[in-house]
Amino acid sequence: MRTIGLIGGMSWESTVTYYRLINRLVQERLGGFHSARCILYSVDFHDVEASQSAGDWERGGELLAEAARGLERAGADCVLICTNTMHKVADAVRAATSLPLLHIAELTADELDAAGVSTVGLLGTRYTMEQAFYKRKLEDRGITVLVPDEAERAFVNGVIFNELCLGTVSEVSRRAFAAIIAGLAERGAQGVILGCTEIGLLVRPQDTPVRLFDTTEIHARRAALYALGDAPQDKGE
Ligand code: GLU
Repeated sequence: MRTIGLIGGMSWESTVTYYRLINRLVQERLGGFHSARCILYSVDFHDVEASQSAGDWERGGELLAEAARGLERAGADCVLICTNTMHKVADAVRAATSLPLLHIAELTADELDAAGVSTVGLLGTRYTMEQAFYKRKLEDRGITVLVPDEAERAFVNGVIFNELCLGTVSEVSRRAFAAIIAGLAERGAQGVILGCTEIGLLVRPQDTPVRLFDTTEIHARRAALYALGDAPQDKGE
């Protein structure tokens, strides 16, 4: 089994989900007492968030590059950045190590392709919804990306940073997210990407009839498959 390297802590609330999902998938596949070999480098989210809100992505890139180098030294076979937003600095992480980076948006695009989704809604931080670094990965694959309107984007971003990253899960916010998801579907989205690794803590499949693509679930599942040697890239697909 390969060793998964996780850059986590962004926020740690969602890193808990990664850890649980990866171990569960490996155990389901191998049975018995099997669990995933993995190494977690958990950053101080205070520093990362400060670099985001200052627009200092170079500093954010340095923080994550340092984490990636640490994972490589510790014996990881791949790297995951356990947040959508910090894929803004994916190139800095890729440049810092020789390990493969399992890119959350590229893997999500694979899932959309497989599901035949060509128009998708995207929920995430305002960086993810408004900047090009994430949407471009989907658009390069011929997928049209719809984001909520300005007021809704501000609301979604606020819930992520003021509630979910701090461990608060609110029924009021859940209903509001379900309404925003319904609005994206009305505009033509065939599914909606939960493009922030905490949103799955709030919105569950039973909360909306719209098909959801939970990036935490996709990322964790693909990491487990990679560790088990079952990832599409291992089969030359
Ligand atoms: N975990 C979130 C994401 O997937 C937000 C935290 C962050 O800003 O990195 O984008």
